[in-house]
Amino acid sequence: MRKLAAGNWKMNGMAASLSEVTALLAAHPAPGCEMLLCPPATLVAAMAAQARGSALQVGGQDCHAKLSGAHTGDISAAMLADAGASHVILGHSERRADHGESDEDVRMKTGAAWAAGLVAVVCVGETEAQRDAGQTLAVVGAQLKASLPEGATAANLVIAYEPVWAIGTGRTPTLAEIAEVHGFLRAELTARFGAEAGGMRLLYGGSVKPSNATEIFALADVDGALVGGASLKAADFGAIVAALSAA
Ligand code: PEP
Repeated sequence: MRKLAAGNWKMNGMAASLSEVTALLAAHPAPGCEMLLCPPATLVAAMAAQARGSALQVGGQDCHAKLSGAHTGDISAAMLADAGASHVILGHSERRADHGESDEDVRMKTGAAWAAGLVAVVCVGETEAQRDAGQTLAVVGAQLKASLPEGATAANLVIAYEPVWAIGTGRTPTLAEIAEVHGFLRAELTARFGAEAGGMRLLYGGSVKPSNATEIFALADVDGALVGGASLKAADFGAIVAALSAA
């Protein structure tokens, strides 16, 4: 399986930020892993144009569950694909928290992404209170089950395990904790989707940076990372790409 280094720029990035992409592609023209950046929607088309013919893939950070219609301010999966995106992040904890997205919303959006030919990067993860209460596997298992439609394949689905308390905080679970959740996710996906699940990429996300990437990528069932803050600078994201390429 080709591993995946994915970056989520969140609500960061102006046209001038595309210089980071120029620098990233100059430093890593042929990485040993897949490389994906998900900029804000305003930059998807420009970044996709910049990335055309390169090793970089471009994705959105959300899409609507419907393909078109009267939904002011929203963006459809087909629009992302039309702008040059190949992927879309769905069910990020910030969307679940800020916009009240439910697992069912995520499941409908995932279906819409697939209908538009996009790879869905579906996020799951527990809060700190849920981890402290010993509910981590139950929470991510329930999210995984309810957020995915039938028909998931290694080609159309990537899962990102992102503990909510590790996002943007500089804190990460222990390596054993990450390995436990990833092994559990693989088993759950295998129980539902069979052998296909062996090829689904399971990303870890939450304060991944150049200094901790190598030890995280050495874990079984960690097939890459979803990176927030450290994806904004070519030097940091490039170092993570290099660590994954070497894993
Ligand atoms: C994220 O936004 O998905 C994320 C993991 O953020 P950070 O790397 O900044 O913790």
